[in-house]
Amino acid sequence: MDIRYLKGVGEKRAAQLAKLGIFTVDDLLGFYPRDYVDYSRPYPVASAPYDVKCVVRATVYGKGALTRIRGGKQMVKILAGDDTAGLSLVYFNNPYISQKLEVGTEYCFFGKVGGGFAQREMVNPVMLTAEAASATPLVPVYPQTEGINSNYLAKCMRTAFAAAPDIPEPLPAWMLQKYRLCPKADAVRMIHFPRSTAEIASARRRLIFEELLALQLGLLLLRSRDATLTGAPMKPVDLQPFWASLPFSPTGAQKRAAQEILADFNKLSPMNRLLQGDVGSGKTLVAAAGIYAAWKNGYQSALMAPTEILAAQHAETLRRMLEPLGVRVALLTGSVKGAAKKAVRKAIAEGEADLVVGTHAVLGPDVEFRKLGFAVTDEQHRFGVRQRSALAGKADHPHLLVMSATPIPRTLGLLMFGDLDISILDELPPGRTPVKTYAITGKKRADMYGFLKAQLAAGRQAYIVCPVIDESETDMQSVTSYYEETARPLLEGYRVGLMHGRLKAAEKNAVMQQFKDGELDVLVSTTVIEVGVDVPNANLIVIENAERYGLSALHQLRGRVGRGKGEAYCILISDHTGEAVKKRLSFLCHTTDGFAIAKFDLETRGPGDFFGSRQHGLPSLHIADLMADSKALYAAQQEAIDLVAADPGLRQPENAGLRALAEGLFREQTALN
Ligand code: ADP
Ligand code: MG
Repeated sequence: MDIRYLKGVGEKRAAQLAKLGIFTVDDLLGFYPRDYVDYSRPYPVASAPYDVKCVVRATVYGKGALTRIRGGKQMVKILAGDDTAGLSLVYFNNPYISQKLEVGTEYCFFGKVGGGFAQREMVNPVMLTAEAASATPLVPVYPQTEGINSNYLAKCMRTAFAAAPDIPEPLPAWMLQKYRLCPKADAVRMIHFPRSTAEIASARRRLIFEELLALQLGLLLLRSRDATLTGAPMKPVDLQPFWASLPFSPTGAQKRAAQEILADFNKLSPMNRLLQGDVGSGKTLVAAAGIYAAWKNGYQSALMAPTEILAAQHAETLRRMLEPLGVRVALLTGSVKGAAKKAVRKAIAEGEADLVVGTHAVLGPDVEFRKLGFAVTDEQHRFGVRQRSALAGKADHPHLLVMSATPIPRTLGLLMFGDLDISILDELPPGRTPVKTYAITGKKRADMYGFLKAQLAAGRQAYIVCPVIDESETDMQSVTSYYEETARPLLEGYRVGLMHGRLKAAEKNAVMQQFKDGELDVLVSTTVIEVGVDVPNANLIVIENAERYGLSALHQLRGRVGRGKGEAYCILISDHTGEAVKKRLSFLCHTTDGFAIAKFDLETRGPGDFFGSRQHGLPSLHIADLMADSKALYAAQQEAIDLVAADPGLRQPENAGLRALAEGLFREQTALN
């Protein structure tokens, strides 16, 4: 049922609920509390701890008048207390609170306690009568949005639950028994209206398992290509002419990975391979070897990159490597328009382009390949799993390669890539020296600029990265003001470029091209340069507000330098004095191993950890946590594999509930992407 028709909702509320992803009554019931307030053991006023949220029981003695204070705010003071101490309650902008609270009645208040010893104080506490608190002591706290508070959601839940008592059971009975899970209807009731903490635990266990099972099933269904034959069977190819055409020799790891790809090309089933290698390990070359082999077999290839800059750069690199051998390369991005776009599409459809490099524009419905045999996605963590299979859908089960520099711990790799085979580039091309990394505070900024200028004087180039504070305008503002007020004055006489996410694709490309061509000495940028950009002459990267990034992101950024000759430097600037931040940055200064960094990142769970759903491309989960619930994750994975093996596509009627569950989870992802 549409949420609009639930009693107490209506059009306006429905629009607000939509922001929380709630469109139907089912969505509402699947919107789980973020936390609970436990009113069962309230503190006496005098023994309540300071400055942590807690529940205090007190009787209301008197009510002050509503007063107006600065800024048009309203304030009201309520006097309360128990026989241990007095408690004054201060409410801002809550004119109805006086009417709600009754003198002589005992309440439980939830919030932070401040004030002095004899007279304690709470500001804007949430409350419940002591009577209600002892009847239902566990009160759910829901994630909120503008106009919708937790109380309102709780009220909707009660109405919805009364109106829709039949909640179908998607899990088969044997599974409930095997894992001792409670029925769905009970779990939903207990998660929203728990009578005890044991009920919350039981409901969570059940719902987490269900969600992880849905995730695993969805992933398997998306890839149920295992048993199929590839439409691009290939003959063995000698890579020698390709290697010989390069200005350098491939590393042992590159050769090995290329051979693994070629071996898969000769199989009857399509390749499904992840190429994992730290930044700078030379993944592009391995892809090029595969493209060469596919071309030798008469197949087209496609390479998809997450940004226009990266796509353009790949097109250029691959042209340089492959065109001398006869491979015709086309570039297709969102900014290729009109007649040019038509021409590229025609070349792809008629087989006049052997390799198409592009952004997700390659996935457009109007792009048809004549004979696509090999599809590559670069920096795969930026794409959703769906997009990956969309590229595969452009042909009859082509061979797939996904490349990633984000080192994914093995356990999660198995989850996310399930049936993928993995090739690892564990060797950097020769001549690389580790990037010297230093963490400094803003006080040393001027000195650092001196060092930067010395590098520029030696003919090198530098990046300065400023954080995206908020993904909207402030991104541009912060980097623009840094550019105007800090970088330009300090770098007078040098050519300084500016790049951020708000520039049009063509403008970004133009700036990047200038930097590559050496027409700019310094590039001030947000993290739009994060992935893959390759300018070997740049040997210094300065990262402002380094504390805002996860270590893996910093490592990626650092990988932008140290690609050419000579020493390279990464300077992390942070004014954060917290021990945790210092420890993280210092770890990066002393480690160059991407895997170790990812592991440390995971253990310390810093900002922007790369398991945010935006980065791994998985649908966002409502209740389960991939790290914390890893045990349930493996159990669910095993069950999903068995279920799909017994009933590929989950077509049997008894699996209809499971299928709906999995599709539901992944549908949301498409809606939000
Ligand atoms: P990444 O794995 O980060 O995508 P790239 O493919 O961009 O790395 O390669 C990084 C740089 O290393 C490029 O400038 C590339 O030309 C160079 N490179 C790749 N392989 C070799 C090699 N075997 N020897 C020397 N340089 C190489
Ligand atoms: Mg790359």
